Amino acid sequence: MSMTQSLNPKVMMFLKEKVKLIKTNNKVIYLVGPIKLPVSLFEETVQFQWYCWLNCKEVAENFERIIDKLSSANLAEIQQSSVLIHGDFESADDALIRMHSICHTGDIFGSKRCDCGFQLKTAMKEIAKHGTGALFYLANHEGRGIGLFSKALAYILQENGFDTVDANLKLGFVDDSRNYSDAIYVLKELRTKPVKVMTNNPKKLEALKQAGMNIAERVELWGDVSEYNQNYLKTKITRSGHLEGEGCCND
Ligand SMILES: [Zn+2]
Repeated sequence: MSMTQSLNPKVMMFLKEKVKLIKTNNKVIYLVGPIKLPVSLFEETVQFQWYCWLNCKEVAENFERIIDKLSSANLAEIQQSSVLIHGDFESADDALIRMHSICHTGDIFGSKRCDCGFQLKTAMKEIAKHGTGALFYLANHEGRGIGLFSKALAYILQENGFDTVDANLKLGFVDDSRNYSDAIYVLKELRTKPVKVMTNNPKKLEALKQAGMNIAERVELWGDVSEYNQNYLKTKITRSGHLEGEGCCND
């Protein structure tokens, strides 16, 4: 059933104002925002601007056509990525960025098996402190790109002696299958000036550079070390090429 009839011109006008079409190599990204998002962060309320994007194979200049298809697209089954912007992101000379990979267990439940939840909050706090920046929340990066169900299987293998890298390999996945190209298209739409990237992972930095990101500097992001994630963090240093510091970071 078509919804278009119910979209009056005024509704379309509001939506059109906030939706940008970004053409990529063989598809299109619809970016919606900015949307005001006051966020509770370490007992303070910080103002962020929120954008969300949708990746489409069909390039349709006609936005009504896209809206029309949304109701039957089952978008809740395929989670979308989004980004929180703080400060004058487009124009400020200096901006701090974190490309955060979704972690259902760490970010939502606060699992201590990894340090993702701690890193997410710390990155947001650092961006707010810095004055200008962006936190990209990448929804297709669960378990370094293997998905939540496979991550649960990998956790079972880890409980039986395999390290993080081996567990993924034994399940038939490559160790790290994360892709940053859509996020970088979105970043370029929001800011063309160089950015400082928060990561302890040189491979990730290299992947971001390869994907065309304009990087001025790398900034370290210390993690939350506990008895529950020691092995996980050690694996990141010894097997995934992370730099060692006082703590270690989950990238
Ligand atoms: Zn995690």
